[in-house]
Amino acid sequence: MTRVPVRDDLSALEGYHSPQVEVDVRLNTNESPFAPPAAWRDAFAAELSRVEWNRYPDRSASALRAGIAAVHGVLPDQVFAANGSNEVLQTLLLTYAGPGRTVATFEPTYQLHGHIARLTGAAVAEGERAADFSLDMAQVRKVLAATSPVITFLCSPNNPTGLVEPEANVREVLAMAPGLLVVDEAYGQFADWSAVGLIDEDSPLVVTRTFSKTWSMAGSRLGYLIGPSWLVAELDKVVLPYHLDAAKQIAGRLALTFVDEMEARVQFIVSERDRLSAAMATMDVDVFPSGANFILFRPRCVAGKVVWQRLLDHSVLIRDCSGWPRLSDCLRVTIGTAGENDLFLTALAAALTSKVAS
Ligand code: PMP
Repeated sequence: MTRVPVRDDLSALEGYHSPQVEVDVRLNTNESPFAPPAAWRDAFAAELSRVEWNRYPDRSASALRAGIAAVHGVLPDQVFAANGSNEVLQTLLLTYAGPGRTVATFEPTYQLHGHIARLTGAAVAEGERAADFSLDMAQVRKVLAATSPVITFLCSPNNPTGLVEPEANVREVLAMAPGLLVVDEAYGQFADWSAVGLIDEDSPLVVTRTFSKTWSMAGSRLGYLIGPSWLVAELDKVVLPYHLDAAKQIAGRLALTFVDEMEARVQFIVSERDRLSAAMATMDVDVFPSGANFILFRPRCVAGKVVWQRLLDHSVLIRDCSGWPRLSDCLRVTIGTAGENDLFLTALAAALTSKVAS
Protein backbone atom coordinates (compact mmCIF):
# COMPACT_ATOMS: atom_id res chain seq x y z
CA MET A 1 0.00 0.00 0.00
CA THR A 2 1.32 3.47 -0.82
CA ARG A 3 1.40 5.77 2.15
CA VAL A 4 -0.33 9.05 1.46
CA PRO A 5 2.19 11.87 1.87
CA VAL A 6 1.43 14.58 4.41
CA ARG A 7 1.43 18.27 3.49
CA ASP A 8 4.81 19.29 2.06
CA ASP A 9 5.36 21.85 4.81
CA LEU A 10 4.80 19.22 7.54
CA SER A 11 7.10 16.49 6.25
CA ALA A 12 10.19 17.89 7.99
CA LEU A 13 8.46 18.61 11.33
CA GLU A 14 9.12 16.50 14.41
CA GLY A 15 6.46 15.87 17.06
CA TYR A 16 6.65 17.27 20.59
CA HIS A 17 7.98 14.65 23.00
CA SER A 18 8.22 14.41 26.77
CA PRO A 19 9.27 10.90 27.83
CA GLN A 20 6.98 9.22 30.38
CA VAL A 21 9.06 6.73 32.37
CA GLU A 22 8.06 4.75 35.48
CA VAL A 23 10.07 6.23 38.38
CA ASP A 24 9.70 6.92 42.12
CA VAL A 25 10.26 10.68 41.79
CA ARG A 26 8.75 12.35 38.73
CA LEU A 27 9.98 15.92 38.36
CA ASN A 28 9.96 16.37 34.58
CA THR A 29 6.71 17.96 33.40
CA ASN A 30 6.08 20.91 35.75
CA GLU A 31 2.89 19.43 37.20
CA SER A 32 1.70 20.11 40.73
CA PRO A 33 2.94 17.43 43.16
CA PHE A 34 -0.36 17.69 45.05
CA ALA A 35 -3.78 16.21 44.30
CA PRO A 36 -6.66 18.70 44.19
CA PRO A 37 -8.40 19.31 47.57
CA ALA A 38 -10.62 16.41 48.76
CA ALA A 39 -13.59 18.80 48.97
CA TRP A 40 -13.14 19.57 45.27
CA ARG A 41 -13.25 15.84 44.44
CA ASP A 42 -16.45 15.40 46.45
CA ALA A 43 -18.17 18.41 44.89
CA PHE A 44 -17.03 17.29 41.42
CA ALA A 45 -18.36 13.75 41.93
CA ALA A 46 -21.69 15.09 43.19
CA GLU A 47 -22.14 17.38 40.18
CA LEU A 48 -21.01 14.70 37.72
CA SER A 49 -23.82 12.45 38.91
CA ARG A 50 -26.32 15.12 37.82
CA VAL A 51 -24.94 15.69 34.29
CA GLU A 52 -27.39 15.04 31.45
CA TRP A 53 -24.98 12.96 29.38
CA ASN A 54 -27.37 12.62 26.45
CA ARG A 55 -27.17 16.42 25.90
CA TYR A 56 -24.35 18.51 24.49
CA PRO A 57 -22.62 20.67 27.10
CA ASP A 58 -23.06 24.47 27.37
CA ARG A 59 -21.37 25.51 24.15
CA SER A 60 -20.14 28.84 25.45
CA ALA A 61 -19.11 27.46 28.87
CA SER A 62 -20.74 30.53 30.35
CA ALA A 63 -20.53 29.60 34.05
CA LEU A 64 -16.86 28.67 33.70
CA ARG A 65 -16.04 31.87 31.81
CA ALA A 66 -17.91 33.96 34.38
CA GLY A 67 -15.95 32.27 37.19
CA ILE A 68 -12.58 32.88 35.49
CA ALA A 69 -13.56 36.48 34.73
CA ALA A 70 -14.49 37.08 38.38
CA VAL A 71 -11.12 35.73 39.59
CA HIS A 72 -9.27 38.14 37.28
CA GLY A 73 -11.63 41.13 37.55
CA VAL A 74 -12.41 41.14 33.81
CA LEU A 75 -15.61 40.63 31.78
CA PRO A 76 -16.74 37.09 30.80
CA ASP A 77 -16.51 38.02 27.12
CA GLN A 78 -12.80 38.75 27.65
CA VAL A 79 -12.25 35.07 28.55
CA PHE A 80 -11.72 32.17 26.15
CA ALA A 81 -11.28 28.65 27.55
CA ALA A 82 -10.09 25.47 25.80
CA ASN A 83 -8.57 22.02 26.35
CA GLY A 84 -5.34 23.08 28.03
CA SER A 85 -3.53 26.29 27.23
CA ASN A 86 -2.02 24.39 24.32
CA GLU A 87 -5.43 24.38 22.63
CA VAL A 88 -5.81 28.05 23.52
CA LEU A 89 -2.50 28.70 21.72
CA GLN A 90 -3.58 26.53 18.80
CA THR A 91 -6.88 28.41 18.43
CA LEU A 92 -5.07 31.76 18.56
CA LEU A 93 -2.66 30.58 15.87
CA LEU A 94 -5.40 29.08 13.67
CA THR A 95 -7.23 32.40 13.88
CA TYR A 96 -4.35 34.82 13.36
CA ALA A 97 -1.38 32.92 11.88
CA GLY A 98 -1.46 30.60 8.83
CA PRO A 99 0.24 30.70 5.41
CA GLY A 100 1.79 34.01 4.39
CA ARG A 101 1.95 35.27 7.99
CA THR A 102 4.81 35.35 10.51
CA VAL A 103 4.96 34.61 14.22
CA ALA A 104 7.90 35.80 16.36
CA THR A 105 9.47 33.90 19.27
CA PHE A 106 12.55 34.68 21.36
CA GLU A 107 14.57 31.55 21.98
CA PRO A 108 14.99 29.58 24.09
CA THR A 109 11.31 29.52 24.99
CA TYR A 110 8.31 27.16 25.04
CA GLN A 111 8.73 24.98 21.96
CA LEU A 112 5.04 24.71 21.16
CA HIS A 113 4.70 28.40 20.27
CA GLY A 114 6.83 27.91 17.16
CA HIS A 115 5.70 24.32 16.60
CA ILE A 116 1.96 25.07 16.46
CA ALA A 117 2.62 28.20 14.39
CA ARG A 118 4.39 26.00 11.81
CA LEU A 119 1.50 23.51 11.88
CA THR A 120 -0.79 26.35 10.75
CA GLY A 121 1.57 27.05 7.84
CA ALA A 122 2.95 30.29 9.27
CA ALA A 123 6.63 31.28 9.12
CA VAL A 124 8.42 31.56 12.47
CA ALA A 125 10.94 34.35 13.07
CA GLU A 126 13.20 33.10 15.89
CA GLY A 127 14.90 35.94 17.74
CA GLU A 128 17.73 35.15 20.16
CA ARG A 129 17.80 35.96 23.84
CA ALA A 130 20.96 37.24 25.55
CA ALA A 131 23.42 34.73 27.07
CA ASP A 132 21.67 35.00 30.48
CA PHE A 133 18.35 34.28 28.66
CA SER A 134 17.00 37.80 29.28
CA LEU A 135 15.23 39.58 26.43
CA ASP A 136 17.58 41.62 24.26
CA MET A 137 15.39 44.63 23.38
CA ALA A 138 17.57 45.69 20.43
CA GLN A 139 17.13 42.17 19.01
CA VAL A 140 13.36 42.33 19.60
CA ARG A 141 13.15 45.67 17.79
CA LYS A 142 15.16 44.25 14.89
CA VAL A 143 13.08 41.07 14.51
CA LEU A 144 9.76 42.88 14.74
CA ALA A 145 10.83 45.55 12.24
CA ALA A 146 12.23 42.98 9.79
CA THR A 147 9.40 40.42 9.89
CA SER A 148 6.28 42.32 11.02
CA PRO A 149 4.82 39.32 12.92
CA VAL A 150 1.07 38.97 13.35
CA ILE A 151 1.78 37.39 16.77
CA THR A 152 4.76 38.07 19.02
CA PHE A 153 5.15 35.53 21.84
CA LEU A 154 6.62 36.15 25.25
CA CYS A 155 6.52 33.62 28.07
CA SER A 156 6.63 34.78 31.67
CA PRO A 157 7.95 32.98 33.63
CA ASN A 158 9.67 31.56 30.60
CA ASN A 159 9.76 27.80 30.07
CA PRO A 160 12.40 26.30 30.24
CA THR A 161 14.55 29.10 31.70
CA GLY A 162 12.29 30.17 34.61
CA LEU A 163 12.95 33.86 33.94
CA VAL A 164 10.15 36.33 34.71
CA GLU A 165 9.81 39.02 32.05
CA PRO A 166 10.05 42.46 33.71
CA GLU A 167 6.92 44.61 33.30
CA ALA A 168 8.89 47.32 31.51
CA ASN A 169 9.90 44.82 28.80
CA VAL A 170 6.32 43.65 28.27
CA ARG A 171 5.13 47.25 27.98
CA GLU A 172 7.93 48.07 25.55
CA VAL A 173 7.27 45.02 23.33
CA LEU A 174 3.53 45.79 23.40
CA ALA A 175 4.21 49.33 22.22
CA MET A 176 6.36 48.17 19.30
CA ALA A 177 4.56 44.95 18.25
CA PRO A 178 2.83 45.37 14.89
CA GLY A 179 0.28 42.63 15.70
CA LEU A 180 -0.82 40.74 18.81
CA LEU A 181 1.41 40.29 21.82
CA VAL A 182 0.70 36.96 23.53
CA VAL A 183 2.18 36.55 27.01
CA ASP A 184 2.10 32.87 28.01
CA GLU A 185 1.66 32.82 31.79
CA ALA A 186 1.28 29.07 32.29
CA TYR A 187 3.43 29.62 35.42
CA GLY A 188 2.11 33.12 36.13
CA GLN A 189 0.90 32.43 39.69
CA PHE A 190 4.44 31.55 40.81
CA ALA A 191 5.77 34.95 39.72
CA ASP A 192 5.62 38.32 41.45
CA TRP A 193 3.67 40.16 38.73
CA SER A 194 1.22 39.39 35.92
CA ALA A 195 0.48 41.04 32.58
CA VAL A 196 -3.26 40.42 33.15
CA GLY A 197 -3.40 43.93 34.69
CA LEU A 198 -2.37 45.41 31.31
CA ILE A 199 -5.30 43.88 29.39
CA ASP A 200 -7.79 46.33 27.94
CA GLU A 201 -10.15 46.52 24.99
CA ASP A 202 -7.90 48.88 23.04
CA SER A 203 -4.70 46.87 23.40
CA PRO A 204 -3.72 43.88 21.22
CA LEU A 205 -2.50 42.02 24.33
CA VAL A 206 -3.46 38.48 25.33
CA VAL A 207 -2.43 36.53 28.43
CA THR A 208 -2.75 32.73 28.50
CA ARG A 209 -3.11 30.67 31.68
CA THR A 210 -3.67 27.03 32.62
CA PHE A 211 -5.32 24.88 35.28
CA SER A 212 -2.55 22.30 34.80
CA LYS A 213 -0.01 23.66 37.30
CA THR A 214 -1.26 25.67 40.27
CA TRP A 215 -4.77 24.25 40.14
CA SER A 216 -3.47 20.62 40.26
CA MET A 217 -5.57 19.71 37.24
CA ALA A 218 -3.18 18.64 34.49
CA GLY A 219 -5.35 15.51 34.12
CA SER A 220 -8.36 17.61 33.17
CA ARG A 221 -6.78 19.61 30.30
CA LEU A 222 -8.15 23.09 30.83
CA GLY A 223 -6.59 26.43 29.95
CA TYR A 224 -7.80 29.91 29.06
CA LEU A 225 -6.84 33.35 27.90
CA ILE A 226 -7.74 36.86 28.94
CA GLY A 227 -7.87 39.36 26.08
CA PRO A 228 -10.01 41.99 24.39
CA SER A 229 -13.59 40.85 23.66
CA TRP A 230 -13.17 41.47 19.90
CA LEU A 231 -10.40 38.86 19.84
CA VAL A 232 -12.37 36.35 21.95
CA ALA A 233 -15.31 36.68 19.51
CA GLU A 234 -12.99 35.72 16.62
CA LEU A 235 -11.64 32.68 18.49
CA ASP A 236 -15.19 31.52 19.22
CA LYS A 237 -15.76 31.30 15.47
CA VAL A 238 -12.70 29.11 14.91
CA VAL A 239 -12.79 26.64 17.79
CA LEU A 240 -14.81 23.44 17.34
CA PRO A 241 -18.37 23.54 18.66
CA TYR A 242 -18.79 21.98 22.13
CA HIS A 243 -15.02 21.61 22.52
CA LEU A 244 -15.25 21.83 26.32
CA ASP A 245 -17.02 18.75 27.65
CA ALA A 246 -19.46 18.94 30.55
CA ALA A 247 -17.09 17.31 33.08
CA LYS A 248 -14.29 19.73 32.33
CA GLN A 249 -16.55 22.75 32.67
CA ILE A 250 -17.66 21.52 36.10
CA ALA A 251 -14.09 20.69 37.15
CA GLY A 252 -12.84 24.16 36.28
CA ARG A 253 -15.78 26.06 37.73
CA LEU A 254 -15.50 24.19 41.04
CA ALA A 255 -11.72 24.62 41.18
CA LEU A 256 -12.22 28.38 41.17
CA THR A 257 -13.98 28.11 44.54
CA PHE A 258 -10.72 26.85 46.09
CA VAL A 259 -8.56 29.92 45.49
CA ASP A 260 -7.21 29.97 49.07
CA GLU A 261 -6.06 26.34 48.91
CA MET A 262 -4.46 26.99 45.54
CA GLU A 263 -2.62 30.04 46.84
CA ALA A 264 -1.34 28.12 49.87
CA ARG A 265 0.14 25.47 47.52
CA VAL A 266 1.73 28.17 45.39
CA GLN A 267 3.34 29.68 48.50
CA PHE A 268 4.66 26.28 49.53
CA ILE A 269 6.09 25.53 46.08
CA VAL A 270 7.71 28.97 45.90
CA SER A 271 9.38 28.40 49.28
CA GLU A 272 10.56 24.95 48.18
CA ARG A 273 11.86 26.43 44.92
CA ASP A 274 13.90 28.95 46.89
CA ARG A 275 15.18 26.22 49.22
CA LEU A 276 16.19 24.07 46.24
CA SER A 277 17.87 26.96 44.40
CA ALA A 278 19.90 27.83 47.51
CA ALA A 279 20.96 24.21 48.04
CA MET A 280 21.89 23.75 44.37
CA ALA A 281 23.89 26.98 44.40
CA THR A 282 26.32 25.29 46.83
CA MET A 283 26.88 22.44 44.32
CA ASP A 284 28.94 22.26 41.18
CA VAL A 285 26.14 23.58 38.94
CA ASP A 286 25.06 26.95 37.49
CA VAL A 287 21.51 27.69 38.63
CA PHE A 288 19.32 30.07 36.61
CA PRO A 289 17.00 32.33 38.66
CA SER A 290 13.41 31.06 38.51
CA GLY A 291 9.98 32.62 39.07
CA ALA A 292 8.24 29.35 38.15
CA ASN A 293 7.66 25.89 39.67
CA PHE A 294 10.86 24.53 38.10
CA ILE A 295 14.56 25.36 38.00
CA LEU A 296 16.91 25.25 35.02
CA PHE A 297 20.52 24.37 35.84
CA ARG A 298 23.75 23.39 34.13
CA PRO A 299 26.27 21.01 35.75
CA ARG A 300 29.78 22.44 35.46
CA CYS A 301 32.05 19.39 35.42
CA VAL A 302 29.85 16.47 34.36
CA ALA A 303 27.93 16.46 31.07
CA GLY A 304 24.23 17.28 31.51
CA LYS A 305 23.16 14.04 29.83
CA VAL A 306 25.31 11.99 32.20
CA VAL A 307 23.85 13.74 35.25
CA TRP A 308 20.32 13.15 33.88
CA GLN A 309 21.02 9.42 33.46
CA ARG A 310 22.59 9.13 36.93
CA LEU A 311 19.49 10.77 38.44
CA LEU A 312 17.33 8.30 36.52
CA ASP A 313 19.43 5.48 37.97
CA HIS A 314 18.32 6.84 41.37
CA SER A 315 14.70 6.71 40.09
CA VAL A 316 14.52 10.52 39.82
CA LEU A 317 13.22 11.75 36.44
CA ILE A 318 13.88 15.35 35.44
CA ARG A 319 13.79 17.04 32.01
CA ASP A 320 16.82 16.67 29.80
CA CYS A 321 17.11 19.93 27.84
CA SER A 322 20.75 19.31 26.95
CA GLY A 323 19.97 18.48 23.32
CA TRP A 324 17.77 21.55 22.79
CA PRO A 325 19.17 24.49 20.82
CA ARG A 326 21.02 27.05 23.02
CA LEU A 327 20.67 24.83 26.12
CA SER A 328 23.69 22.54 25.92
CA ASP A 329 24.15 20.57 29.17
CA CYS A 330 21.04 22.16 30.71
CA LEU A 331 18.57 20.20 32.85
CA ARG A 332 15.23 21.30 34.29
CA VAL A 333 13.78 20.06 37.56
CA THR A 334 10.14 20.57 38.62
CA ILE A 335 9.52 21.44 42.27
CA GLY A 336 7.92 18.45 44.00
CA THR A 337 6.88 17.66 47.57
CA ALA A 338 9.47 18.37 50.28
CA GLY A 339 10.33 14.65 50.36
CA GLU A 340 10.75 14.44 46.59
CA ASN A 341 12.90 17.55 46.59
CA ASP A 342 15.15 16.05 49.28
CA LEU A 343 15.51 12.84 47.25
CA PHE A 344 16.41 14.94 44.20
CA LEU A 345 19.04 16.93 46.11
CA THR A 346 20.65 13.77 47.49
CA ALA A 347 20.64 12.12 44.06
CA LEU A 348 22.05 15.26 42.42
CA ALA A 349 24.91 15.50 44.93
CA ALA A 350 25.75 11.86 44.20
CA ALA A 351 25.40 12.33 40.42
CA LEU A 352 27.82 15.25 40.45
CA THR A 353 30.51 13.41 42.42
CA SER A 354 30.28 9.79 41.22
CA LYS A 355 32.92 8.88 38.64
CA VAL A 356 30.83 6.16 37.02
CA ALA A 357 27.10 5.88 36.67
CA SER A 358 25.72 3.88 39.60
N1 PMP B 1 2.66 27.10 28.07
C1 PMP B 1 3.77 26.77 28.71
C2 PMP B 1 4.86 27.78 28.82
C3 PMP B 1 3.92 25.49 29.25
O1 PMP B 1 5.07 25.14 29.85
C4 PMP B 1 2.87 24.57 29.14
C5 PMP B 1 2.96 23.18 29.75
N2 PMP B 1 4.06 22.46 29.39
C6 PMP B 1 1.74 24.96 28.44
C7 PMP B 1 1.64 26.23 27.93
C8 PMP B 1 0.60 24.01 28.17
O2 PMP B 1 -0.09 23.73 29.30
P1 PMP B 1 -1.51 23.02 29.25
O3 PMP B 1 -1.82 22.67 27.83
O4 PMP B 1 -1.38 21.83 30.13
O5 PMP B 1 -2.46 24.04 29.79
